[in-house]
Amino acid sequence: MNLFFHVFDVMILRISVVWLLLLSSNLLIGQEKFPWPEGKKFAISLSFDDSRLSNLEHGIPLFNKHGIQATFYVHPSIVEKNLSGWKDAVAKGHEMGNHTLVHPCSENFIWSRSNSLESYTLTSMRKELTDANRQIKDLLGVTPVSFAYTCGQTFVGKGEGKKSYVPLIAELFTAGRGWLNEAPVDPLYADLAEVNGIKMDDIAFEDIMPMINYARDNNLWLVLVGHDTGPQKNGQTTRLDFLEKLCTYINDNSDIWAAPVGEVARYVETTRTNGRLVKSDPLPVIENVAGTLNLKASLGRGYGPKIEYMPDWKAYGWWTSQDSVVWNISVPESASYKVMLEWSISDEEAGKEVSVHIGGNKIVHKIQTSGSWETFRREKIGEVSLPAGNHKVIVVPTNSNDKGHFMDVRSIQLFRINN
Ligand SMILES: [Zn+2]
Repeated sequence: MNLFFHVFDVMILRISVVWLLLLSSNLLIGQEKFPWPEGKKFAISLSFDDSRLSNLEHGIPLFNKHGIQATFYVHPSIVEKNLSGWKDAVAKGHEMGNHTLVHPCSENFIWSRSNSLESYTLTSMRKELTDANRQIKDLLGVTPVSFAYTCGQTFVGKGEGKKSYVPLIAELFTAGRGWLNEAPVDPLYADLAEVNGIKMDDIAFEDIMPMINYARDNNLWLVLVGHDTGPQKNGQTTRLDFLEKLCTYINDNSDIWAAPVGEVARYVETTRTNGRLVKSDPLPVIENVAGTLNLKASLGRGYGPKIEYMPDWKAYGWWTSQDSVVWNISVPESASYKVMLEWSISDEEAGKEVSVHIGGNKIVHKIQTSGSWETFRREKIGEVSLPAGNHKVIVVPTNSNDKGHFMDVRSIQLFRINN
């Protein structure tokens, strides 16, 4: 064979192999990467079932020490026996989820034979779930938004009459969590009414690391499931040394978003639709006749787990350090602008810092009290120069670890400065 052609063939082969690899990795990874809040790479939720006493004794104090919030799928009749302990857990920000009233499972379990999912109908299950939610609300003051399938089983009835109650969970809750599943949750595609739950009972921290790394590499949501929390094996027990190492690891790695199941599910739900990200870019705001860009809250788009537009106040509220608001603007010609912020905040919550990104500019501003949440105040926070064209305006808490509420924002206004 002619040497020249051989070299040429090899070159062509190499090029096409590289090209194929690039193409296939694009296809495998997909075009869209799920945008976890604040640039986090993946999410972890810790959840525990059956309202076990050891959660109050060992688990919750450990989470409180590390500042991590978990989800507890509880039964009202058990909560009632240690009401103050569970109330304290709610006050610390832990989520209380629904796990039915009487924990029915398949009659294949000897202990569940007189209380089996086979004997339920969709109607009786609906009643039990809504009763449980009401009782938890009465006891703890919170209404569960997520549910954990008892024994991870998702059916009622038997044989020809067997039905899935996943659609019922989809109707009643933001999320339904499973048990003994094999993989983390893909936030773009997963059915939130049937979220995979991975076992963390009776394992060592090192055993879960491959799963954590897999979730990190693929931007996934790892939902861990345990029961008792204690120093040693005792039936279904998530070991305290496991939790100690896991919480330390979470706090040492800033690419992890650790939050309760309901909070992550709500973020996922509002960030995607049918396997695609919500087309969330708001239309650009243009200058009015006075040369002002009036960025009303209603024209921006809120991102994050808690933030909500409040029509009665014409403002974004329920803002935490994990939330942000984005506007698009269109600047007709290169110009300088005076930037005004219209906000409200109570005396107690004032003093935090906000970063306002406008085009390539960044204004860091300390939020002064407006007197109360009901009183809005408007003040100049800086000046920016912008070239002609489209830009983004992003209002985001400067410190993503700030606790408590962030301000309510009614508008940002950019007044053209005449040179
Ligand atoms: Zn259970």
